[in-house]
Amino acid sequence: MRIVDVQTHLLDYALPTPFESASMRFDRRQHLLVEVVCDNGLIGWGECLGPVLMNAAVVEAYKTRIIGKDPLETEKIWLDLYHTYRDQGQRGISITALSGIDIALWDIKGKFFKKPVSTLLGGRFRESVKAYATGSFKLQGVDRISSVVQETLGYKAEGFHAIKMKIGFNKEEDLELIRQVREAVGPDMRLMIDANHGYQVDEAIAVGIQASQYDIDWFEEPIVPEWLDAYRDVKKGQPIPVAAGETWHSRWGMQQPIQQRLVNIIQPDVCGVGGFTEMKRVVDMAQLVGVRVVPHVWGTAVQIAASLQVMANLPPAPVRIDPLEPIFEFDRTHNPFRQAVVHTPIEHVNGILQIPDKPGLGIEINREALEEYRLKP
Ligand code: CA
Repeated sequence: MRIVDVQTHLLDYALPTPFESASMRFDRRQHLLVEVVCDNGLIGWGECLGPVLMNAAVVEAYKTRIIGKDPLETEKIWLDLYHTYRDQGQRGISITALSGIDIALWDIKGKFFKKPVSTLLGGRFRESVKAYATGSFKLQGVDRISSVVQETLGYKAEGFHAIKMKIGFNKEEDLELIRQVREAVGPDMRLMIDANHGYQVDEAIAVGIQASQYDIDWFEEPIVPEWLDAYRDVKKGQPIPVAAGETWHSRWGMQQPIQQRLVNIIQPDVCGVGGFTEMKRVVDMAQLVGVRVVPHVWGTAVQIAASLQVMANLPPAPVRIDPLEPIFEFDRTHNPFRQAVVHTPIEHVNGILQIPDKPGLGIEINREALEEYRLKP
């Protein structure tokens, strides 16, 4: 079996109501799918986290090096691409693009051996996973606090047991938002806060100290990912467990935060950290030193399916009779092509997701949706 083609699918949708995190404004939804085609007709699908045009350009550059290769040799292909572009490509788009290719190769491997990726990674520790609702962004032209409170009550009504809300805009307003959301959803809902690296170090520490009274599971990306040393200060300076990792790429990007325990929870994204090949290493590295793994997920059903395969294979931790159950990030923001790209949407029931057990990623791509949402020049 040889690789004969690599295609990119740039998907795009203009949002009628733009939304904002502390660091980014979303006017459009854009995600990149990668299709790898083999000479025997097998096709694998992957997805890249981040900007579609840049990712697609890098995938295109990688293409010439992987045509003719055996898609089952995932490790060899990963290292060849990494070594070839190492001098300028240790982090960022070169790794997110590589992630999409690696995921597609594992999808092919699963279809070839007629097993789900999770089985090939070593086995399925679970068949379902609890999801948490990611949403509560700042919407244009509405009162932020009341709209987020309404939104979180909607998640509670849907059966979610956990919700992550967006902060990092303004310390006082953020704390008032957290207070009102906790009051509205009651004591049993798990709540997380995500600052999308919007704070200064002293602000983050102050918010963490104040917010801890509202029983917060974790404090995500309090500060920019480059300030590794300052992560230690935030972790020590306030009581809420600190989470980060969606912007740290490859084993080398993850090495310092994990080995030095700069965070309590590491959040690698299979579509950003380097695909399944690298994800497995990062999970092992984290479990080696007792850092919790809660993968980051932000994309289409391809990304959701890939992340669910990771979840199935995530070894129980800590090792005890009743370990902490992993929890799955489930994006609830507006994106009409998120589930349309597959024939069978991956939806939750009462906040629980079943993990596909068909070969590869366990999904079938809907090419009509790829055409409908294709990025127009
Ligand atoms: Ca985040």
